[in-house]
Amino acid sequence: MKSLILEDDQQIDISINEKIILDFLYRWIRPIRVGDLKDYLNVKHSTLNSQLQNLEEKQLIRWKRYGSVELTEKGKKYSSHLTRHHRILELFLVETLSISISEAHEISTEITPVASCKFIQHIVQRFGEQEKCPCGNEIPKIEGKCSIGGV
Ligand SMILES: [Zn+2]
Ligand SMILES: [Zn+2]
Repeated sequence: MKSLILEDDQQIDISINEKIILDFLYRWIRPIRVGDLKDYLNVKHSTLNSQLQNLEEKQLIRWKRYGSVELTEKGKKYSSHLTRHHRILELFLVETLSISISEAHEISTEITPVASCKFIQHIVQRFGEQEKCPCGNEIPKIEGKCSIGGV
């Protein structure tokens, strides 16, 4: 199950688990130790290692062995798009289902990797372009032509 991020005619295959990592890293802002990342994402060390290796090959993250992981400039660009989806989905969940912000955050983390730009656009059309998500964090704007496909 792979989907594409297209930009400047460049195509990159990103798996669902890689998307979860990118979205997390963007929201985390600073570099993070692999052990901490593993705990937050609740995944096995070996699985995380191979996913990080893939992201490093795609030049989306910088990873110092036995050290910390952080997004590259290219990684930040793609991840801000995922986080945009994440926060618009939170807005959608809170507004339509009236669930708590913390639950909306949790559910949004799960569905962000499978949501397409098309779906997100429908939400934006319904609720308008908002500055902030229900938690009060800024919803990143996208620049250029960038589209993320669903599953
Ligand atoms: Zn999008
Ligand atoms: Zn939020």
